[in-house]
Amino acid sequence: MVTFELAPGEARVIRDLGAFVESEVVPLQERYQPMFDHEGVGILPEGTLHPDLLRASRELRRRSAKEGFYAMHLPEEMGGRGVSFCGLLQAHKEVFRHGLGFTLSVLATIEGPSRMLGSLDAQQRRRWLDPLVRGEKTTCFALTEPGAGSDVRNIQTRARQEGDEWVIDGTKMFITNGPYADFAQVFARTSDEDGLGSLTAFLVEKGTPGFTVGETLETIANNGLPCELRFEACRVPQESVIGGVGEGFFHALTNINDTRIQNGGMAIGLAQFCLDRTVEYVTQRTAFGKPVAKYQGVSFPLADSMTELRAAEALATWAAWRIDSGESAIQETSMTKLYCTEMLWDVADRCIQAHGAVGVLRRAQIERVLRWARVMRIWEGTSEIQRMTIAKTMGL
Ligand SMILES: Cc1cc2nc3c(=O)[nH]c(=O)nc-3n(C[C@H](O)[C@H](O)[C@H](O)COP(=O)(O)OP(=O)(O)OC[C@H]3O[C@@H](n4cnc5c(N)ncnc54)[C@H](O)[C@@H]3O)c2cc1C
Repeated sequence: MVTFELAPGEARVIRDLGAFVESEVVPLQERYQPMFDHEGVGILPEGTLHPDLLRASRELRRRSAKEGFYAMHLPEEMGGRGVSFCGLLQAHKEVFRHGLGFTLSVLATIEGPSRMLGSLDAQQRRRWLDPLVRGEKTTCFALTEPGAGSDVRNIQTRARQEGDEWVIDGTKMFITNGPYADFAQVFARTSDEDGLGSLTAFLVEKGTPGFTVGETLETIANNGLPCELRFEACRVPQESVIGGVGEGFFHALTNINDTRIQNGGMAIGLAQFCLDRTVEYVTQRTAFGKPVAKYQGVSFPLADSMTELRAAEALATWAAWRIDSGESAIQETSMTKLYCTEMLWDVADRCIQAHGAVGVLRRAQIERVLRWARVMRIWEGTSEIQRMTIAKTMGL
């Protein structure tokens, strides 16, 4: 029998998370709303955000970690709670149905601990992983380069071994949280072979000579500002290698199920947020003597949106269930990333239209979701790359 119900323990974690968001996150979000309107979202507490916002976000991340929410998706031996992928999906939906802002500090994503760090030994874990799990430090995931985004095999950053050290040279691009991370997880070529075994992942602490933060890049989403990272004869010790030499590509892929389910849950939650606000607005707003909700031009696009939201939810749940059941889920997780993020873009756009001019006001908070949806369709594998993966699984 297939059941998508969470185990009682996990259902309790999600209920507790919901209560935490209601009591701790929503009031903060309301208090700081005008600042978010002016200064962007800040995927992380950092960015160019006002110091008050920054402080509150950092504090929230630590509190979420202390309550056991922040890294809940990691196995217990890594300091997490071993929450299933179905649970992870629910968690993201639960948080993001409250919109964008402080919600981004509640659950670990690219700035936080990931499954990839499970390959660290005990000493490395104490230094690099544990402070991330506690929400005390943040990191960044430095894979993309100016000449290599979708095509990871084209990475040009190199690391060569000299005695007990590795020397890294190269440039990374679009690295979220790069300016503020305490350390970077850097992917570099360690052999000239063409195969996927040519990449190795390194841990590089901020302040290491030869490691500089380059240009900060303002994006449409203004999301904590990705940046360029430069490595010029940057020396790191042998203990900086994540797992083994040549395992970089494998480690990058270790996170893929998490990121696709996280993106799916975030998109579903945000679409719910847009629809909740829009239904409330269109039932109150009147034109030509009746609520605009009574015009099919307004209600049908919203009905389509609700249908697509539920379809996205079903697809993402199916993908999460397959991973939890130990089944292959490459096709389903790619579909989840593709469909959920594209769905969010369409839903946010329709919700803005249903609001009329009010929809494009910063304070309505829906245009922010639309801008965010725009980058969600690009990062962590573009929509085209997801289609390419799906096509491959179909034997095309
Ligand atoms: C806001 C933001 C934050 C980011 N954060 C990070 C981060 O923290 N760490 C990190 O490493 N990267 C990060 N990225 C980079 C992101 O992962 C890449 O932008 C993404 O993988 C696409 O690579 P690209 O931009 O080089 O596009 P390209 O690979 O140059 O692609 C250009 C276009 O061609 C299409 N295309 C490419 N290959 C194919 C193909 N085979 N078939 C069909 N179409 C194809 C793409 O879909 C795209 O439309 C971030 C990007 C953004 C926008």
